[in-house]
Amino acid sequence: MSETKTNNKRSLFAKLPSVDEILNENEIEEVFARIPRNTVVDSVREAIEYYRKKIISLDERDVENFELSNEDVVNRAIFLSDKSFELSLKKVINATGIVVHTNLGRSLLSESIKDELWDAASRYSNLEYDIEKGARGSRYSHLTDMIKKITGAEDVLVVNNNAAAVLLVLSTLAKGGEAIVSRGELVEVGGAFRIPSIMALSGSTLIEVGATNKTHYSDYEDAINENTKVLMKVHTSNYRIVGFSESVSLEEMRELGDKYDIPVVEDLGSGVFVDLSKYGMTYEPTVNDSLKKGVDIVSFSGDKMLGGPQAGIIVGKKKYIEKMKKNQLTRALRVDKMTIAALEATLRLYLDEERAVKEIPTLRMLTYTMDEIEEKAKKLYSQIKSRLENSDGGLSERLELCIERCVGQVGGGSMPTEELDSFAVVIKTKDMSLNKFEEALRLSKSHIIARVYDEKYVLDCRTIFESQFEDIAKEIENILLEK
Ligand SMILES: *Cc1c(COP(=O)(O)O)cnc(C)c1O
Repeated sequence: MSETKTNNKRSLFAKLPSVDEILNENEIEEVFARIPRNTVVDSVREAIEYYRKKIISLDERDVENFELSNEDVVNRAIFLSDKSFELSLKKVINATGIVVHTNLGRSLLSESIKDELWDAASRYSNLEYDIEKGARGSRYSHLTDMIKKITGAEDVLVVNNNAAAVLLVLSTLAKGGEAIVSRGELVEVGGAFRIPSIMALSGSTLIEVGATNKTHYSDYEDAINENTKVLMKVHTSNYRIVGFSESVSLEEMRELGDKYDIPVVEDLGSGVFVDLSKYGMTYEPTVNDSLKKGVDIVSFSGDKMLGGPQAGIIVGKKKYIEKMKKNQLTRALRVDKMTIAALEATLRLYLDEERAVKEIPTLRMLTYTMDEIEEKAKKLYSQIKSRLENSDGGLSERLELCIERCVGQVGGGSMPTEELDSFAVVIKTKDMSLNKFEEALRLSKSHIIARVYDEKYVLDCRTIFESQFEDIAKEIENILLEK
């Protein structure tokens, strides 16, 4: 006590430990086992600097009461070391009920394909090598047979994402000419992807026809001239024009294409291979439908409702796809071997539709029955409840916990009008604000991302894995204990 009384800034500065002193502390030795020495040394310096600045900022009264121990500096240094060694990309728990959540990584790959993915990443492979001929091969060949088998397409090309696919299609087929699109289909898809901008980038001219809500066969036909290179259909995947509306069907576009010898291309957005209406969802056009209706080229995403890795898949007539393969852009938009491995293995699951729906997380989550989700909600509810009841300090009194129905979404700009009925574990706080509660769970080690509405914290159980229930319960307990 008497010593702190005589504190002044100079004596405090004198108490600041040296870097070596801290590095010799036992706790720091343990950190060296998991974090590189340089990182730890930097953190120790930073920690000492932190306390030096703190002393500078003290006013007279604070100076007297200020106590500084090596332990404080050590703890700060460990905190900083962990922080600088932490990866920026980390796991989160998606409790939003939005299945294809663009901000949270979109589609999740199936557990069952992890060996294929790791093998491709960590071992040499025949990526661009023809094993039978002992000669150079093509990286695109690996996906061709599988996608042909599933879609019935003549040929296939896979690029980095669907935005790249649309760019490549237009740049190959419509450059220097005109592409006709309905005004009702000039989609903007998140970020900066807009059909008119992609069109400009591809070097083709956009010819808009019709009105926002109605486009007729004759609108397209009137716009056709000798510069027309492509008739384009864009699936309005992230909005619907309802009410007084009309658009030209793929069959009619095919008819026009034949009449004037112009290719018909479609940007399908979120490609699906499975007719989801069989599983209680609204019908969403499948890739096979588009091809059957005679569309020459269809492009779609690998990581929306398909449930694979990020990719842009182009299927259709061989003569057009051959041209795309020769386009210099293809090299710039090419897919990585990990994408090829993950996509091929995901697609293989589709050879057995039942297996695909069961094992591809996106499809699994979209096709849960209400009973299944309610079952999950009950489990999460009881895990949280029993955790709080078994904890010291009457924690279960501090929250109101119940199971309620809620509504989620497909997400990823897919099926905008589809509401996914679901069950949630719903929490009301009694002694802290809901926003604080939400923030604490978001910043916790498990990074739980959930929604707050109607003065409730809502954990939609559709998108939460059962293996994450215990973490959620633990984090809630921690937050209550800390407060
Ligand atoms: C999502 C989407 C795209 C872009 O696909 P990415 O795979 O995200 O590049 C393009 N067009 C439509 C209609 C879409 O829905």
